[in-house]
This record gives sequence, C-alpha cells and structure tokens, in this order.
Amino acid sequence: MFALVGKLVDYRSVRDGAVIVEDNIIRVVVPAGELGEWGVDEVYGGENYLVIPGLINAHTHVAMARFRGLGEDLPTGEWLEKIIWPMELEWTRKEIREWAEIGLREALMNGSTTVNDHYFFADEIAKVAERLGIRAFIGQTVMDEVVFPLASPEEGFRFFKRWRNRSELVTPTLAPHATNTVSLELMKELAELSRETGARVHIHLAQSRAEVSEVKRRYGLSPVGLLERAGLLNESLIGVHGVYLNDSDFERLARAGSTLVHCPTSNVKLEARTVNLRKLLDLGLNVALGNDSPNPTGILDPFIEMRTAGIVANLTAGKAHAVPARELFGMATVGGARALGLKAGLIEPGYLADLVLINADKPWFRPLENVYSLLVYSARGSDVEKVVVNGKVAWAKPS
Ligand SMILES: [Zn+2]
Repeated sequence: MFALVGKLVDYRSVRDGAVIVEDNIIRVVVPAGELGEWGVDEVYGGENYLVIPGLINAHTHVAMARFRGLGEDLPTGEWLEKIIWPMELEWTRKEIREWAEIGLREALMNGSTTVNDHYFFADEIAKVAERLGIRAFIGQTVMDEVVFPLASPEEGFRFFKRWRNRSELVTPTLAPHATNTVSLELMKELAELSRETGARVHIHLAQSRAEVSEVKRRYGLSPVGLLERAGLLNESLIGVHGVYLNDSDFERLARAGSTLVHCPTSNVKLEARTVNLRKLLDLGLNVALGNDSPNPTGILDPFIEMRTAGIVANLTAGKAHAVPARELFGMATVGGARALGLKAGLIEPGYLADLVLINADKPWFRPLENVYSLLVYSARGSDVEKVVVNGKVAWAKPS
C-alpha cells in the first residue's frame, strides 16, 4: 500500500487529502492527517502537489514518433504520399518496437496513463506497452477497400484473438482504418465481433472531405449513416476527428452513446478545420481527447491538447469561455474512461489506481486557487512527477 498526498482534483471535486492505493485500485481517500492509521509503505507528494486521475489519450499512433517533424510543411496529401506511406512500407518489427517505446514513454512521462492506439504491427506495440507498464488499448489497423500490405483484415482478427483476455494492461480493440478504406462487409464482420465480445471499435471518422464524398458516392450515405448500416453505431464505437460531420451526424452519435475523440492540434495542423466542441457537449455526446500521432502534433502531451481544445472551441463557438476548464479536464479523464469502458478517471474508492502526481511548486501554479484552469492552461507534461498505472509507479521523475 502507498499513498499520494496533495490537492486531489477530479472532474467532480477538488479537496485536500490522501489517496491510498492497494493492489491495482484506489482503496480509500482520507484526510492527510489520518494517514498514520493506515500503515502505508510509502507516501508521495504533500504540500504543493496535485493528484489527478491519469489522463487518457483516446487516439494516437505512438510508433509514428519516427516521422516527427518530417515533411512538416508539405500539403497533407503530398506529405502522406511522399513521406509517410513509403516509410511505413519499410518498417521492420525492431524499428516498430523502438519507436513505439519512444512514443509510449513520451505519453507516460507527460501524464497519460492510458493510450488508445491504432496502427500496424500491433503485437509489437502491445508488448512494449506491457513492458513499460502503461495501460493501452491497441488495435491493428485494417483496410480492404485500399490495398495496403500492413493492414490485412486477417492480421487484425488474429491480433484481436491473441490479446483478448491476456493482459491486465493491454486490451485489444477492433481498428477499421476509416469509413472510406474499409468495405461495408468487413465493417459488418467487425460489428458482429464487437457485439459478441464487447470490444471497442476505433475508427477515423470524417477526417477529410474526400472520405465523406467517397462514402456518399458509394453508398449515398454520410460516414455515420454507413456505420449505422454496418451495425457499428453504438456505445462501443470510438469515432475520431469528425471534422466533416454535420449536426445530424453528431446527434446520431450522441443518441447511440458513441464517443467522438477530438484531436484539435492534429485537425488544425492537417486539415485547418475543427469541430464545434461547445455544440457537441450540449448534445450530450461523449467527447474524449486525443493527441493523434506525434508527427502532426509535435508532442504527446495531454495538457497541451486540453489547452488547445479550450482555445479552439472559442473560435468555433464564436464566443469566449465556450468550454470551461473543468469540462476540458473531464474530457481527458472521465470522457476517455467512458469511451474505453474503464472504471477510471475519478479519485474514488474502487476505481483503478491510474493516477498522476504533479509538482505545483512553480511560478505558473500561483495562485493555487482555480485548479482546473491551472491544469488546463498553465500545467505542462514536464510538471508531472510520478505516474501510477494499475497501482504501480510506472514512471517517476529522476530526483
Ligand atoms: Zn489518427
């Protein structure tokens, strides 16, 4: 048993206290003064520390750290064709392991306790995640409308079966690439497997104008209409981006209990577009936050994503303070947990002990009053001092 002490901040409340961790869960939350009665082995934190639920990066491709900064100024289409796809065809398993480790370490040390990854060679990424001790939902990207040797549906199914119920930290997902690169038949197969097993289905959704027009041409449907026809529109669906969806698509996602992962940095950098976050939240749609890959985003830092989401939301809402900091923090914690079906994201007894300790003894945490605002607009990944995943210290800043 060990304890984290400080200002305990989750989506519901801010209070001073100590969180006691036993096995992989939060055993109890007590006033710091009562800690002595519990006989804990270690105490971390204290005055000037914040304890928050681990942040959840609900959409990423960690191994793409390999491409960080490359072709940065090319138009998106050219960048994919000239830089990304040729390099992806050259991947070796060893390189995937090396770069997945860089991406996962980066996520962990910046305060993400969980990532939801979507990529090729998922097996290798899963093994690295287990070794580093980060919680990871991992899907092997599949497509069949476009031929891409690394994305065969057979390998997707094989990976899913191999990792099902195998690891405490790694949960396999089903990962169709996008609505225009996967056939309706394959989507139906994935929908059935998801229904049987409860697996999450993680898909890029209306990321580009071309995706929307291709789906319209082929089926006469919007991307969300296609997901509905395939039987995928339900609580297991994690759709990513949505920057070309219309209001009725968002309403359908909300009614179905699906999740939209908002990746504001990636969307603005690659597509010069975003969603109207205020509107989505008002619809009751579950919104989680994603860094997307390190190559458009620059860094896997969940604090930067919360801040960017908040600032960009004002532009689309056409008003200042469109989404309060507490809601943005909620998207990165309870929103991500709901998307993945995890009992995490709150500092409550019985919840998974996925927690982050932040050293707030810095000028940018003064005054230490509106803590939600400080976490979203002042904090950065480098303020993270310890990261606890599944009840174990997975990363600690060297002292
Ligand atoms: Zn992506």
